[in-house]
Amino acid sequence: MTDPAVLTIDSVRSAMRNKQTTAAALVERFYAFIDDADRQVNGYLTLCKERALAQAGKIDALVDQGAELPPLAGVPVAVKDVISTAGVRTTCGSRMLENYVPRYDATAVQRLEKAGAIILGKVNCDEFAMGSSNENSAYGPVRNPRALDRVPGGSSGGSAAVVAAGTAVVALGSDTGGSIRQPASFCGVVGLLPTYGRVSRFGLVAFASSLDHIGPFSRTVKDSAQLLQAIAGRDPLDSTSADVPVPDYVAALDQPIRGLRIGVPSDAFASGLDPRVEARVREAIEVFRRAGCEIVDISLPNNQYAIATYYIIATAEASANLARYDGVRYGFRNKDAATLAEMYRRTRDQGFGAEVKRRILLGTYVLSAGYYDAYYKQAQRARALLAADYRKAFQQVDVILTPTAPTPAFKLGEKTGNPLEMYLADIYTVTADLVGIPGISVPCGDADGLPVGVQLLGNYFAEARLLQLAHHFEQLRAQAPASAQA
Ligand code: GLN
Repeated sequence: MTDPAVLTIDSVRSAMRNKQTTAAALVERFYAFIDDADRQVNGYLTLCKERALAQAGKIDALVDQGAELPPLAGVPVAVKDVISTAGVRTTCGSRMLENYVPRYDATAVQRLEKAGAIILGKVNCDEFAMGSSNENSAYGPVRNPRALDRVPGGSSGGSAAVVAAGTAVVALGSDTGGSIRQPASFCGVVGLLPTYGRVSRFGLVAFASSLDHIGPFSRTVKDSAQLLQAIAGRDPLDSTSADVPVPDYVAALDQPIRGLRIGVPSDAFASGLDPRVEARVREAIEVFRRAGCEIVDISLPNNQYAIATYYIIATAEASANLARYDGVRYGFRNKDAATLAEMYRRTRDQGFGAEVKRRILLGTYVLSAGYYDAYYKQAQRARALLAADYRKAFQQVDVILTPTAPTPAFKLGEKTGNPLEMYLADIYTVTADLVGIPGISVPCGDADGLPVGVQLLGNYFAEARLLQLAHHFEQLRAQAPASAQA
């Protein structure tokens, strides 16, 4: 069978159907590959071989019966470790949950398995999904498979890295402020942020509930479309999941893109942007222009408030969501404390890492009496203004195009001493989460050997449009002469 790193959902499914391999053999092969290749990358935190082989057995039985195979039959998937898996340890990259084993599956996980996918294991991430480099994991950083001395991005660094390395065909991640799109950009893969409510959050350990999303990582746009197809749709277990019909994402991919309007915000190429990233993104704009899309200058005047707004709202919600880790109900507990108050204090002091504590402090501060109006309420106002800007822009254009991240993957340790600088890695991504619209990052070339991604943002529930444009872009780039790809 071919190199695992080039498998796609379609190629796996047809290999099953044509009996070129069994699901069980494929699973064994991936574990052998993980054993070999993940040592350097540190993507996987927990493998669930028993569960994977049980699921493979079901697929192989279907093949033997000559039954119709489900859409993701036999596809090896990795799941970010903030997404609950029944009976399989779910650490959230935190010491606090080092031995936590959920009793239920996240809806997205359940739907993946129902569609025939095989979960290989749980992948590394920043602690409670707080970070942009995966260096905030209690289990060590993930290394970027494209350059091992560099970060994979974060917080879904493991998800991006294992897909890039080929130790999973596709993966699930979560995005609260960019955690799918930014690591996808850094690792040279596709990452999709669905509309808020498109994919159930049931079983996703909460960071900032009004901003949290689950979404796909893949090496091709079509694979993300197929993955989204499997996990999207209303779930009675998540009251914020939307009762909006799920279109056929794959059927949309080949629809013509000529005449579509692509908005480029006036601040898309602001200072702080790496010139090599700017060059690749400008080339991407040219690809769309040559394909007959209309490029339109737009203005999003409140974008300048996005980072501040995000870091107020996200930390405020985090401070409330993380109050549950008190040593009583979940996970780690300090056992030496003499009093209950001391037990709480020591548990939280030892169980959480520095960045999580910083966020809880910030969040508690912006919600406290006297500061609530000045920070939290103002941030909510700014969030409403941002949403209005985007609503207005989408009357003019079909999608908005920006860089995904201001730089390619940076070196391990390069930004750990400066949290503010780290926060700026999210400058292009946080707004979509604040507004609730979908976004995709798709590879658009390299900067001195490091991958660069271009981001497309769409109107509410316009994932099909994003996938369609990204798919055409991917095909056009594949056809372009090597020199144009840099
Ligand atoms: N990097 C951003 C943060 O640290 C976004 C994280 C995320 O999307 N989970 O909050």
